[in-house]
Amino acid sequence: MENIVKKDICSFNYGELAEEMHAMGEKPFRSRQLYEWLHVKLADSFEEMTNLSKSLRGKLSQAYAIPKAEVVERQISKEDSTEKFLFGLEDGNMIESVLMRHPYGNSVCVSSQAGCRMGCRFCASAIGGLKRNLAASEMLRQIYQIQRLTKERVSHVVVMGTGEPLDNYENLLKFIEILTDANGLHIGQRNVTVSTCGIVPNMRRLANEKLQITLALSLHAFTQEKREYLMPVASRYDLQDVLDACSFYFEKTGRRVTFEYALAKGVNDSNEDADGLAKLLSGRNCHVNLIPINPVKEREFKESGQPAVLAFQNKLVKSGINATVRRELGRDIDAACGQLRKKYMDTQE
Ligand code: SAH
Repeated sequence: MENIVKKDICSFNYGELAEEMHAMGEKPFRSRQLYEWLHVKLADSFEEMTNLSKSLRGKLSQAYAIPKAEVVERQISKEDSTEKFLFGLEDGNMIESVLMRHPYGNSVCVSSQAGCRMGCRFCASAIGGLKRNLAASEMLRQIYQIQRLTKERVSHVVVMGTGEPLDNYENLLKFIEILTDANGLHIGQRNVTVSTCGIVPNMRRLANEKLQITLALSLHAFTQEKREYLMPVASRYDLQDVLDACSFYFEKTGRRVTFEYALAKGVNDSNEDADGLAKLLSGRNCHVNLIPINPVKEREFKESGQPAVLAFQNKLVKSGINATVRRELGRDIDAACGQLRKKYMDTQE
């Protein structure tokens, strides 16, 4: 009996859990109680569920598992209260999440995969390749753990940690569904951002889901050639097709797309780059988020200095493009994209 693979109970949405409980001969209100334990009270064991009978808890723990994410490391920034968490999954994979405290609420940056296969040249997460997709429950657990540990409410979620969310489409959708469900944490769809390197077919699919989430596109260059150099995945999709998919997303959802642009010194931060970008995006209802690149020690890229970043932003704004510079949080705690996980993996080699 011990080798039976238990079903992941936290990856069922509300309706699916109701079906599971119905099949076990349980009344609908039991399923509601269970869903509340899992997704509101954020229980990580069946034993905690004290309003369920002992025999039901026993039956549940025989057939189902609540996948765990143990805190392996927790770093707190002395500069700005940003916290970074390294979680160990049941199979030994490590993932990281970042908690950022903003005036408008707490935001968590979650990982969608253990590793990544997109190969962006400036990114630490690309270094070991993709290990596996995360289940919906493993994306949720990052938020649940952080909320439990800090006892503070998480109001915003950005899927910008390790991994390419649109390379794990089904699980991503299930994650968003459970996260924003009124029966669970009920985070507003408008407070959820999904960032993609530009997987065109899945951007279109997502547009057709007609969710109210924000789509962010990692653009990083204004020409196909430079984009391919920075992001090998770009060779699979023409830049114009990627931009058309962004327009399609806006048409279907009415949500303005965010373009992310990481500035690397001498690579994509010149006047010519700013002009090219302004031209490429002119007339679009969009927002550009400029990110001074986080230097990763295995990579040759250096961050653009503040004057270059501000000059770049000014050029965009003067051309009528809405552009902001991302606040850099938690620089003192390896908070840059995948660096805590990478550091841990290095110690295991
Ligand atoms: N795969 C998705 C989401 C994860 S990366 C995507 O590509 O969008 C989240 C954002 O961080 C992306 O815009 C990515 O290009 C950027 N990023 C990765 N490494 C970075 C680094 N070293 N410095 C600055 N931004 C980086």
